[in-house]
Amino acid sequence: MSTLEQVIIIGSGPAGLTAAIYAARANLNPLVIEGYQSGGQLMLTSDVENYPGYPEGVLGPEMMADFRKQAERFGTRFITQDVTKVDFSKQPFEISVGNTIYSSRVAIISTGSSAQWLGLESEKRLMGKGVSACATCDGAFFRDQKVVVVGGGDSAIEEATFLTKFASEVVVVHRRDELRASKIMQERALKNEKISFLWNSVIDKVLGEKEVEGVRVKNLQTNETQEVACQGFFVAIGHKPNTQLFTEQIELDDKGYVVTSKKNTKTNIPGVFACGDAQDHVYRQAITAAGSGCMAAIDAERYLEELSHSS
Ligand code: NAP
Repeated sequence: MSTLEQVIIIGSGPAGLTAAIYAARANLNPLVIEGYQSGGQLMLTSDVENYPGYPEGVLGPEMMADFRKQAERFGTRFITQDVTKVDFSKQPFEISVGNTIYSSRVAIISTGSSAQWLGLESEKRLMGKGVSACATCDGAFFRDQKVVVVGGGDSAIEEATFLTKFASEVVVVHRRDELRASKIMQERALKNEKISFLWNSVIDKVLGEKEVEGVRVKNLQTNETQEVACQGFFVAIGHKPNTQLFTEQIELDDKGYVVTSKKNTKTNIPGVFACGDAQDHVYRQAITAAGSGCMAAIDAERYLEELSHSS
């Protein structure tokens, strides 16, 4: 068992790192267990154009490196491993990383969310062999090739637009006849000559034995299927919260998001706070995640203050 920590932050996207900056500046000496895939979803993004303070835009990974540097500047400590178990049933809480148990007065959950998959056997089999959920990571593999993107939200349209930097042709397959993505991103994609759309359609199967050779697309209105030849297949249909660790420990909603108070970041366990996409399925923006990270650190500080008066 390690020495008693005041604040342990689990996760290191905009929410966790903002919580770390605030907690460190409040002299709480936070420990961030940042995970093997530190930085959260922004590590998988290209240009971030809507984060205030970067008028020219910024690359997601660069922005997260800035957040981390700022947290380190005030003394935040980092462990680049995944939390494997938590026990919030007693105070101090126990947070395990393999065989090492960390004890802490406060836990801040900022584990974010992850890409969702269609759930097809063929999608799973060809993952990493042409199937991807991250255009930024894998787009460059498809230079002068044809790719298909499934989804109709901001992610799908952002990925499709980004992929036109490399691919010769990008086909977006969407299950309705209207995009969910923001108007400005829709307009850019609709104007882009490399992007075409298959409306009211779903992916039936990813084709290919050893690598992606195409997809079978089913039109939901006519029930007809067609094969679209492609070398890359990108899934961009949303995300699910990374909260499996907490299932038996704190209250989660029916989709697995941590339930927090409407006014602050408190969970149903005093001393456990949650911020960012792990508890927000509505806004899911870097700026809202960062804002809630700030709230979590302030809530934690007040909780510790009360705890010190009551003991
Ligand atoms: P999203 O907004 O939930 O969109 C998911 C899309 O996938 C929807 O179009 C949905 O169709 C479709 N879909 C879901 N399940 C499907 C399935 N099983 N089969 C086929 N299609 C399926 O998710 P997102 O695009 O990842 O965006 C999440 C949040 O992040 C949003 O708030 C978004 O604004 C934000 N975001 C912002 C930016 C940016 O500003 N640069 C970039 C990326 C994401 P329906 O439309 O029919 O529901």
